[in-house]
Amino acid sequence: METMLAARYMGPDHIEARQVSLPKIAPGEALIQVEACGFCGSDINIVAGTHPRAQSPLTIGHELSGRIVEIADVTTALAVGDHVTSYPLISCGVCHACTHGNPHVCRQLRLFGFDVDGGMAEFVKLPVASLMKLPDDMPASIGALIEPLAVAVHGVHRARLEGVSVAAVLGAGPIGILTALVAKHMGIRDVLISDVQPARLKLATGLGLEAFAAGASLRAQIMELSNQNGADVIYECAGHPSSAKEMTALVRSRGTIVNLGVFKRPVEVDLQAINFKEVEIIGSRVYERKDFRAAIDMAMSLPLAPIISREFSLDHISEAFRLFRDGEVCKVMILPLARPQ
Ligand SMILES: [Zn+2]
Ligand SMILES: [Zn+2]
Repeated sequence: METMLAARYMGPDHIEARQVSLPKIAPGEALIQVEACGFCGSDINIVAGTHPRAQSPLTIGHELSGRIVEIADVTTALAVGDHVTSYPLISCGVCHACTHGNPHVCRQLRLFGFDVDGGMAEFVKLPVASLMKLPDDMPASIGALIEPLAVAVHGVHRARLEGVSVAAVLGAGPIGILTALVAKHMGIRDVLISDVQPARLKLATGLGLEAFAAGASLRAQIMELSNQNGADVIYECAGHPSSAKEMTALVRSRGTIVNLGVFKRPVEVDLQAINFKEVEIIGSRVYERKDFRAAIDMAMSLPLAPIISREFSLDHISEAFRLFRDGEVCKVMILPLARPQ
């Protein structure tokens, strides 16, 4: 039997590179040779054993790029050799969200890399319908950033942008940084970003963003820029109780809060502030296909390369994972084609 190397979640706190059988494609599917696959914060939950759906053994990875090496679909314009990324959502097709044009918030949303084997492996089998073509000259690691970039594109567009001149992004992890870059790209005059970690602020500053320590320093800057009114839009990208507190304090009257951060449990929100200021709070979950297309179009005009802190070959999976989980890094990429170091 033909085998390949894959990053396998084998149970709580156990991830390792293992040989598994090479996937066999069925009609409507394609086999992708993976060139890059990034770790996501949700992979930390999976490996910790705290993700509500992921079951071991599982090949993780939902942020990937690669080339089609085999395809079983005569109706598609895609062909062997095409550079692609994957739209990893699996929707039920029958629930209210699915039948009303919003399959990305399907009642029973599932994803490749969580519920079904993902792409942190030498090869991945995917439905042809879930492939999105990338420009041929897009570097593999940038192609693997399209998925998180689409999260940012979706989040930025959840708020109306007309008349918005001051936006603040709470949290300078990968999603926060990408959200700030997209907000700036969309023409918002002042985009501020904050975090508690100096290393993250340094990275954000290096990308040309206006970065501030969370708390008093961010608040002072927002108030100065907004004539003491508060930010037009707050993008909450930290998913932390402290940012849930900050978001209502920093937004102006009739402003908008977009929540992109994934809170692990219900947190306190100041509904009195929401009421007094007539604030709108909008949820933002993953992305729609149009966000992927926008992310692909936008990627090469954003300074994305410095976001990738380190790249590893597949056999260094546990070291790469530990660095991502414990270190002061942004994105960590696995390059399955790289020779063992
Ligand atoms: Zn992700
Ligand atoms: Zn559904």
